[in-house]
Amino acid sequence: MSKHVFGPVPSRRLGFSLGVDPIPRKYCNYDCVYCQIGRTSHREMERRRFFDPDEIVAEVLEAVRGTKRIDVITFSGSGEPTLNQDLGLMIRQVKSKTDKTVAVITNGSLLSRPDVRADVSPADILLPSLDAVSEQAFELINRPHPSVTPQDMIAGLKSVSQEFKGKIWLEIMFVKGMNDSPEEQALLRAVLGQLSVDRVQLNTVTRPPSEAVQGLGASELARIGASLGERCEVICGFDKRAEALGAEEWVECVLAILDRRSLTVDDVVRLTGITWEEAKERLKRLEADEVIQSVRQIDDLFYVRKDPTQ
Ligand code: SF4
Repeated sequence: MSKHVFGPVPSRRLGFSLGVDPIPRKYCNYDCVYCQIGRTSHREMERRRFFDPDEIVAEVLEAVRGTKRIDVITFSGSGEPTLNQDLGLMIRQVKSKTDKTVAVITNGSLLSRPDVRADVSPADILLPSLDAVSEQAFELINRPHPSVTPQDMIAGLKSVSQEFKGKIWLEIMFVKGMNDSPEEQALLRAVLGQLSVDRVQLNTVTRPPSEAVQGLGASELARIGASLGERCEVICGFDKRAEALGAEEWVECVLAILDRRSLTVDDVVRLTGITWEEAKERLKRLEADEVIQSVRQIDDLFYVRKDPTQ
């Protein structure tokens, strides 16, 4: 069973994405209020070797050999991937041994460092975040390590937007009452004007985070998008359907994803290629076995992994 590779998962932005998790759970230099993985247990800045990079690359290659439905190989996971000092080595190896598109999802905070920009440079798509510009909103929403400032983070985004040869899709996650004020929008607009990125993707809280925060409505997000400029798009759902998995493989795949994010029944249908009724039934069985639990968020029912300590 893979320790570092999961999916492919249906990603709003990337289609079917084979996830690569090069970081132990919740090693991150942010502690975002909207994080689906929960509070950051290790808020760290030090880049280091967490795992054997050859082992991770071998898992990726095995997964690529075993499935036909991968649109992109994405380094992301349950912490901040640029904290892994071997990120560049792993991306280069995956690029040289497969013909797949490689993406990196990062909070962007370490892109002010030349070594981190060099590490992400062989990737095809870079997906950094920029949730806030003012110190107040940055502290509120991202709760960064004390040594991360919005000025440094934005300087890093400017540098990478000048140097990176692939595509850059910048994400802004809006949380009601934290970074949606007219003043913060004006600051974001000013910074976006200085960044050479291909897309600005607006997102909001739609899945249950571990904290009581609220997302924006679709019309609010669309209004903000219109005011932030023409590169903006509101990220919408995915519509590709996977091939069916065997029963054991299905459980393994679904639990591996639920370790990292919540899923609706619709997500599970798209991900695993079974019918809605079958997905609902299987999820109910896992819930009865107390492996997972369901959480209602506005109009949707999400399934999350049950904390074994509870
Ligand atoms: S940067 Fe990502 S992993 Fe880190 S706390 Fe924020 S959402 Fe969670």
